[in-house]
Amino acid sequence: MNLHEYQGKELLASYGVTIQRGFVATNVEEAVDAFEKVNAEFGSKMAVVKAQIHAGGRGKGGGVKLAKNMEELMEHSDNILGMMLKTPQTPGGVDGPGKLVRKVLVAEDCYVPTFESCKEFYVSVLMDREKKCNVIIYSSEGGMDIEEVAEKTPHLVHKEWIHPHMGLQGFQARKIAFNLGLSGQSFKSMSKFITKLYAAFVGSDASMFEINPAMLNGHEEMVAVDCKVALDENALFRHPDLAALRDTDEEDPVEVEAKSHGLNYVNLDGNVGCMVNGAGLAMATMDIIKLSGGEPANFLDVGGTADAERVEKAFRIILRDPAVKAILINIFGGIVRCDRVAQGVVDDYKNIGNVPVPIIVRLQGTNADIAKKLIDESGLEVKSAILLQEAADIVADVLK
Ligand code: GDP
Ligand code: MN
Repeated sequence: MNLHEYQGKELLASYGVTIQRGFVATNVEEAVDAFEKVNAEFGSKMAVVKAQIHAGGRGKGGGVKLAKNMEELMEHSDNILGMMLKTPQTPGGVDGPGKLVRKVLVAEDCYVPTFESCKEFYVSVLMDREKKCNVIIYSSEGGMDIEEVAEKTPHLVHKEWIHPHMGLQGFQARKIAFNLGLSGQSFKSMSKFITKLYAAFVGSDASMFEINPAMLNGHEEMVAVDCKVALDENALFRHPDLAALRDTDEEDPVEVEAKSHGLNYVNLDGNVGCMVNGAGLAMATMDIIKLSGGEPANFLDVGGTADAERVEKAFRIILRDPAVKAILINIFGGIVRCDRVAQGVVDDYKNIGNVPVPIIVRLQGTNADIAKKLIDESGLEVKSAILLQEAADIVADVLK
């Protein structure tokens, strides 16, 4: 689950990280109030208006603007609120439709005394799956596209791996500050920043924290100017306060609905809808669809209790995608009995009425033969298979 910049910053601040402070606004009047508060409370004469969407690269797309006075602030917030912001990270990239901006963060100008006197760094924490531990990635080239820095000047991107049991050691935080060429007060400020950032990452069960730029201001203080946070969904139950930060406006509405029915659904680009129980089987099903020349339209795990009700919900969700040309139902009957699922499919098919695409059902496990018979004798346009390859071949056939 992703957080907005302002939410990520609040989380960082609760761990003692110095952040660029500000207030959220959903319309121009609120933005005016926010600017007055930024003025009065933080003594900042200027403010940055920052679009709050779940995507980076907002600055280049016109979603981050510096306002030198109230007039500019009103102009920028009026322009940014309600815009369809396109960045390389919004769906379809800069050629896509963009994302609607519903909120802006009106933040203090923290580049003091001047923008030129400040230095921007890149710092992120994430999980290195190959090394099976967390890694801090950092660079002196902050404020820019880190992928580009990594490609053109890989020697300027450093990594520090953290031992899972020992945690971040003091020497590692100091090494990072040293490698970034800092000394004196700046050195201390950076190593503290790293320590607190890492504590926030671990404490919130995050899968990513990216601070770009992490800025050293003219008073040698490290400030988080931007903040991208992804939290581990599987750990959210431990953090009800963080779970409450979910912004469903930013998520695919069909995926949100699927989740509310306990279905694990991810929309993809292909034309074969898949309904499977178990994530591993879902992956294998997607592989075999591809090998047979199809493209999966989705990942869908109906879970261990694939009862008729869930199967029907899943059916309806798959059918919402106009790209779907066939549906492959692949259920392993271990805890659930295949005949139950088959009966569910037959009933759902009748309930939904006019299912516009062919359905291929492969049921394997307990009572698979009874299930096949049930389907074959139902008189419906449902094709059944027992082997996965058989099912995939039927899919390939109906797509021709
Ligand atoms: P992103 O484009 O989505 O990564 O958004 P950022 O929060 O990183 O902002 C983009 C850029 O805006 C930063 O790299 C800064 O150069 C600039 N910026 C952000 N905050 C301030 C500020 O307080 N003052 C000034 N002058 N520039 C800022
Ligand atoms: Mn940024």
